[in-house]
Amino acid sequence: MPLISGALRAAYFSMEIALQSDIPTYAGGLGILAGDTLRSAADAGLPTAGVTLLHRCGYFEQHLDERGNQSESPWPWKPETVLESLDARASIVIEGRQVALRAWQYSIRGLGGYTVPVYLLDTKLPENSPFDQTLTDELYGGDDHYRLCQEAVLGIGGMGILNALGSEHVPTFHLNEGHASLLILALLEKHLAGRSSEPTVADIDFLRRKCVFTTHTPVPAGQDQFSRDLAQRVLGPDRVTLLEALGGFVENTLNMTFLGLRASHYINGVAMQHAEVSRTMFPNYPIHAITNGVHATTWTSPPFQQLYDRHIPEWRHDNLYLRYAIGISLSEIRDAHERARRRLFDEVSRATGIRFDENALTLGFARRAATYKRADFLFADLDRLKWIAQHVGPLQVIYAGKAHPRDEAGKILIRRVHERIAALKGALRIVYLQNYDMRWAQLITSGVDLWLNTPQRPYEASGTSGMKAALNGVPSLSVPDGWWREGHVEGATGWDIGADEIPDTPGREIASLYFKLEKVILPMFYGQKNSYAEVMRLSIALNGSFFNTQRMLAQYVTNAYVSETSKNVGR
Ligand SMILES: *Cc1c(COP(=O)(O)O)cnc(C)c1O
Repeated sequence: MPLISGALRAAYFSMEIALQSDIPTYAGGLGILAGDTLRSAADAGLPTAGVTLLHRCGYFEQHLDERGNQSESPWPWKPETVLESLDARASIVIEGRQVALRAWQYSIRGLGGYTVPVYLLDTKLPENSPFDQTLTDELYGGDDHYRLCQEAVLGIGGMGILNALGSEHVPTFHLNEGHASLLILALLEKHLAGRSSEPTVADIDFLRRKCVFTTHTPVPAGQDQFSRDLAQRVLGPDRVTLLEALGGFVENTLNMTFLGLRASHYINGVAMQHAEVSRTMFPNYPIHAITNGVHATTWTSPPFQQLYDRHIPEWRHDNLYLRYAIGISLSEIRDAHERARRRLFDEVSRATGIRFDENALTLGFARRAATYKRADFLFADLDRLKWIAQHVGPLQVIYAGKAHPRDEAGKILIRRVHERIAALKGALRIVYLQNYDMRWAQLITSGVDLWLNTPQRPYEASGTSGMKAALNGVPSLSVPDGWWREGHVEGATGWDIGADEIPDTPGREIASLYFKLEKVILPMFYGQKNSYAEVMRLSIALNGSFFNTQRMLAQYVTNAYVSETSKNVGR
């Protein structure tokens, strides 16, 4: 049995971790970020372990009919074929019952061969009740009760499995969003070792030295919270008393964000603007910014990998070398992109039977179909869009994205996009691909010519798909929200939609979107090929070199994993 060496530096807890495309343990950006973070930790040889749930039924497989009605089927997979079974066992109490857990290991191998283990917790054991056996089946499935039980498995059970594996003394626990906050409770219980008195300031400081909390929610409604009654029922009165003492309750609600904030020495938002927004939401906490990134070698298409290997072979182990993409010739950039585009178009043709035009400007829009992302924004004025495509230059668009099975508004959005696609038939070639996953994300972000992003501000905490595009020389056309507020240099790394100050109005944003397409981007794409290729090259040099998880992880190590710099201890 592979034991963790004593020197584990950090344990990273996340409700979802994207390990590889065909292991469906992720729903979107949060899981991709978690996977990319651990892939960079493996590259860096940083002794880290990931902890998550097994999600035996997988995040669902999406089916769309011709009108865009989404239906879902489970995406079962066989853990035993891709994971290593561990002997370690733990047991936690949920609703007064003992629930037994086991763990499976996925090993992420870094560039230098260093391995970071990811532990996937599993309650499907014969000694558990039929209900308890389902607790690690579905990612973001079920009701609040199911979710709280899952969070108990992740936080308390995850600690239990780490203990069973012999890692008693991890210096840093990194909570990727509030879903993991119950690990704080497990840490405190262990620290109190049966002492029943209220935790002291010193006890809370003990927790804070160990915990790092990354928040991803820019609006209060997005916070993970549960009623006091439910918490009493699932966790029991003693634990509710402890959570109360930790400041985890806001009136009658157990708020996992506040729990994380209270018990962490380092707290960060996932982009500069998101940290600002978070400070207004939580004015009593020192909230820093560490902007997200993506794992460069995972998200760079094979043609660009070959190009970088030829010119800047150091880029793999040191992503800063991507800055020197500035010295690669425009024709080679264009050439690599053409190959990436052909890969995408071949796959689109295979999946849909529709052949895309290799000479037309191709826009990409692929992300979860959450309403704030406004997937239908491009279609605000169909006549204008048609006019632009007919008179300025042809346009084609590739869409993809899943709506959460219970998100009716998200499903309506997918249907509306399909209606618009039908209405534009003959004028614009547009497809909506089914079952967006890591593989499609790799193909689409690298194969289109322009990455479109139209979130409603300030709901996009960071966003990462535009970073994947940048690594592949694909500029963004985006509302200035999330990471793009930092990555945007007008006409150099892409283009803004709308004005920079909040609040902008949808009307102004729409006018700006069409103006940029008609007057700036299409004329450049069709008329000044070198200028467009220059924007592509600058996207790599300026944004690819920075918005990666190698830089991000280095910032976590420097700023967060050292508790001496703590700003939230002794308060
Ligand atoms: C990168 C990625 C996301 C996140 O995209 P955003 O632009 O941050 O919304 C979601 N899903 C998949 C499959 C991805 O690869």
